[in-house]
Amino acid sequence: MVEALASTALRCVECATLYPAVEFGQGSAQPLPRYRCACGGVLDVETQFTLPQAFQQEPSESQDALQALEVSGDLPPMAGAAWRQLFEERAEQPPIWAVGSDSMLLDSSGVWRYRELILSAPEHYIISRPEGNTGMYPVGRENCGPGRIGHRQLGLYAGLDRFFLKHEGENPSGSFKDRGMTVGVTMARMLGARAVACASTGNTSASLASYAAQAGMRAIVFLPAGNVAGGKLAQSLAYGATTVQIEGDFDDAMHLVEQVCNELGIYLLNSLNPFRVEGQKAIGFELLQQLDWQAPDWLVLPAGNLGNTSAIGKAFRQAYQLSLISHLPRIASIQAAGANPFYRSFLHGFASRETVHAQTLATAIKIGNPVSYTRARRVIEESDGIVEEVTDEEILAAKVMIDRAGIGCEPASAATLAGVRKLVARGVIKPDERVVGILTGNLLKDSKTGMPQEGSSIVVEPTVDAVRKVLHV
Ligand SMILES: [Zn+2]
Repeated sequence: MVEALASTALRCVECATLYPAVEFGQGSAQPLPRYRCACGGVLDVETQFTLPQAFQQEPSESQDALQALEVSGDLPPMAGAAWRQLFEERAEQPPIWAVGSDSMLLDSSGVWRYRELILSAPEHYIISRPEGNTGMYPVGRENCGPGRIGHRQLGLYAGLDRFFLKHEGENPSGSFKDRGMTVGVTMARMLGARAVACASTGNTSASLASYAAQAGMRAIVFLPAGNVAGGKLAQSLAYGATTVQIEGDFDDAMHLVEQVCNELGIYLLNSLNPFRVEGQKAIGFELLQQLDWQAPDWLVLPAGNLGNTSAIGKAFRQAYQLSLISHLPRIASIQAAGANPFYRSFLHGFASRETVHAQTLATAIKIGNPVSYTRARRVIEESDGIVEEVTDEEILAAKVMIDRAGIGCEPASAATLAGVRKLVARGVIKPDERVVGILTGNLLKDSKTGMPQEGSSIVVEPTVDAVRKVLHV
């Protein structure tokens, strides 16, 4: 295990101190997890990427010619082509696997397909559903294809010709969190943890509970009482997690779980955990592969705790460094107006770090003091990105559009479409630019907020005449 992580280190995002990925207490054989730097800063994983031996070959002439056209940066131009070939071959594996064929399972995962860029874990430690392989819907005015009138409504609403929505709600537990959790729970196994814990607005706890159950570990989740959508709470309970509701908000729960984990020796799988961010990077790699490595002009996503902004931004940076793509997409993080600390900081050029008392019906992004602030700030700055805010009314209006297009999402996800529409109207995003928007959670996660309720369907006698009357035909 120590050997597997030899090329991995943790660097403080505040003071740049470097720590080994695995540390041991004095005279102890039990590894001690580290979540923060001695200065209190959060940590970022640094890894040396190594292509598998079979792919470290001499370039052929045709690959040479292709590469000459897209050379960027100082890296050997061949690197990008070899990596692309590796990921293409793995993606071509049929999504079935024979009993005992673990590597097939790994290639079928939209996270572990990119394992050299995610985490160097011995295969027998890996806990995978598998996850990822989520849909990417072309919904722009021009790229949605004929006969898909419903989806085209979203392009019209956004004002974009070439627009894609990538639905991370199609992951096994219904949100993007599974991508980070497969890596986090794998790391917990490598460290020999018996119990794992998190604080959550709901999606993280559902995902943690699912993966911990698969690994036979105890899961403990802390939720802000009364602020978690019903579907998410039901998942945590059903998967068997010990579920503790805290009288307080998410930020209180977050603070508490860190103390609990340190004192009770439980492995912490919050977004504070740097290995979860590594798994979430796979959203970025997968969407680039789905676009045949033609990077979009913009990537737009909801922003709460800022883990996804950090992770996808990091994925794009690494893909660019490996010559997988020829330019960095600009990133637009969208906050709810009542939970907008990152937006406030952005407005004055990140001169100071703002916090707020969060208030929004989009509970998944109801966060006033985001953990990944510094990582995300770096992403916005280096991608020439932007932070925007949208009101709850704008979020609900956009959610109705996504739902009625037959795609559907939880409220926080709709911040993406509301934000795109606003940025196009403001002239920041041009109508002919290629834009990918991320939907983070499944429609069924929250069956109340912004949804037509049971009473709005019609009850009639079982006769054709009665039905004719209600259909007005
Ligand atoms: Zn530090």
